[in-house]
Amino acid sequence: MKRFGILSLAIVLLCGLCLSQGFAARYVTIGTGGVTGVYYPTGGAIAKMVNKKRKEYDLRATVESTGGSVFNVNAIMSGDLEFGIVQSDRQFQAYHGKADWDGKPQLKLRSVFSIHPESVTIVAGADTTIKMARDLKGQKVNIGNPGSGQRGNAMDLFAALGYDHEKDMQAEGLKAAESAGLLQDGRIDAFFYTVGHPNGSVKEAVAGARTVRFVEVDQPVIGKLIKKFPYYAPAFIPVAMYPGAENTADVQTFGVKATLCTSADVPDDIVYAVTKEVFENFEEFKGLHPAYEVLTKDSMLQGLSAPLHPGAVKYFEEVGLMK
Ligand code: GLU
Repeated sequence: MKRFGILSLAIVLLCGLCLSQGFAARYVTIGTGGVTGVYYPTGGAIAKMVNKKRKEYDLRATVESTGGSVFNVNAIMSGDLEFGIVQSDRQFQAYHGKADWDGKPQLKLRSVFSIHPESVTIVAGADTTIKMARDLKGQKVNIGNPGSGQRGNAMDLFAALGYDHEKDMQAEGLKAAESAGLLQDGRIDAFFYTVGHPNGSVKEAVAGARTVRFVEVDQPVIGKLIKKFPYYAPAFIPVAMYPGAENTADVQTFGVKATLCTSADVPDDIVYAVTKEVFENFEEFKGLHPAYEVLTKDSMLQGLSAPLHPGAVKYFEEVGLMK
């Protein structure tokens, strides 16, 4: 009898220890992008906020490097990821069944909040003739891996220019993390990267021996694009962030927003916790990456097209960000 008593006490103590150490915690994974982009540190920043309260919420967030926006939507929908960072334009297309999801609307996709602005960044060798987007014709261009957001943006731009990426140029489908090296080695003439600024990939591209320039998307083309794809907005590349690039003034292009997405199947209390921790620690969060400089709490509710997850709505209503 005595031995049983000691044994059960030991089990109870052990379970208590496990719980206090978080062994029973629920895990969520946030899908990001390549490690030299802004999504990866953004996932890290969100996870950091959530993990500070892991005991309170019984929740642990981890981050995964992925192929980007399109990959993240698909992984959220298949249940492989609970959260993912997704370009606002791809969020729109996924929910409405367009582009990669043609005729297959991802109706369980939910938005949580938006984050930093991203500009469609085209970097070319300064020794090429590529100054404007239309000069990409006939060149060797990395438009991005399938699964990335930039690939879709390149396609939309080519549609506005009347180009076919298969006929009018030599299009490569490689990851953004490889682009700077390929450009420096002269194996490509230009690459696309839809990304927040500053970021490691573009810094790497401007820091090499081959001088590079940012390619302009001119106003008439931007106008055409926005008319056809209303989820785009005019944007620019802040060249001061990239000393060494040939450009002397900010470069005109178009852009989107990075957004945090999840699935309708993810429990409300988990989405509530993630939303609350980022917003309650807003100043600290903002300090984690220079691309967040322009963020305001209100701006983080803009640029979302999939329905907001009820867990996020609960927090936004509680603090009066939503009525
Ligand atoms: N916008 C890119 C994509 O959706 C990722 C950019 C980043 O990793 O910061 O694929």
